[in-house]
Amino acid sequence: MRFTATSGRARVCQPSGWFIMSVVTRFAPSPTGWLHLGHAFAALFAHAQAARAGGRFLIRLEDIDPTRVRPEYESAIYDDLAWLGLTWETPVRRQSEHFDDYRRALAKLSALGVLYPCFCTRKEIQDEIARAGQAPHGPDGPHYPGTCRGRPAAEAADRVAGGQPYALRLDVTKAASLAGHALHWADLDRGMQKADPAVFGDVVLARKETPASYHLAVVVDDAIQGITLVTRGEDLFEATHLHRLLQELLRLPVPQWRHHRLISDEAGRRLAKRDDARSLRALRELGWTPERVREAVGFST
Ligand code: GLU
Repeated sequence: MRFTATSGRARVCQPSGWFIMSVVTRFAPSPTGWLHLGHAFAALFAHAQAARAGGRFLIRLEDIDPTRVRPEYESAIYDDLAWLGLTWETPVRRQSEHFDDYRRALAKLSALGVLYPCFCTRKEIQDEIARAGQAPHGPDGPHYPGTCRGRPAAEAADRVAGGQPYALRLDVTKAASLAGHALHWADLDRGMQKADPAVFGDVVLARKETPASYHLAVVVDDAIQGITLVTRGEDLFEATHLHRLLQELLRLPVPQWRHHRLISDEAGRRLAKRDDARSLRALRELGWTPERVREAVGFST
């Protein structure tokens, strides 16, 4: 399949000929803090990609971490986005209501033999990396050193039966070889990319306390929600390499991507949730208008 970017609709060339695919985008915040100018830009960006193509704009709440999610953040998200002038389809998908979807995906991956239980604590992983003296690094830091990868299945099963908590990791080398061929994905700004799925090493796909992780849930949800154009910050560019592999293994449709710039403060630091002073809440209280927010983030597309 080949892709060409047009103004907002994607012309997709398949062996059977050309057809026009209507654009479906999403904004996927985590209700773990107040939205700030960076979120405003991300939401405006995703919304505009759909709007200018006469497509659909969806919201998804990435709320799988119950220790950090708060209901007041969720209602503030809707309130801030409406204030910005955005409209979206309802109902909004909340990841915490769809753990069965993630379990099904994990079962598929497990049947392919590309998952293994990992019993390591964070501290054990750090110690192992320190002992080894070196570890390949990815965008999130050193790769997992593989301590549990070679564990005999019977021993792992005993530990699980004994109630020892574990995460599920992807054996990325095995998974990539199972894909059987080089994978590619289309970034509408940077062109066709050759996937480098091992960039994060053996990532966690299900956490000890949650049957999902960001990487798994995002791929499953984008498929279920029919997202055709994933727009998100350029800090997640590398994550797309891995997502492309997961899509291949799970036989999910492959969207297109745009990775937009991030919004920084005056000192050039990327805005973070902890910067409450720059939250849309705080700016609204200071009298900012939605137009001023658009201007401040240089929103033009
Ligand atoms: N929840 C992610 C974030 O807030 C968005 C992830 C994505 O768009 O894939 O950065």
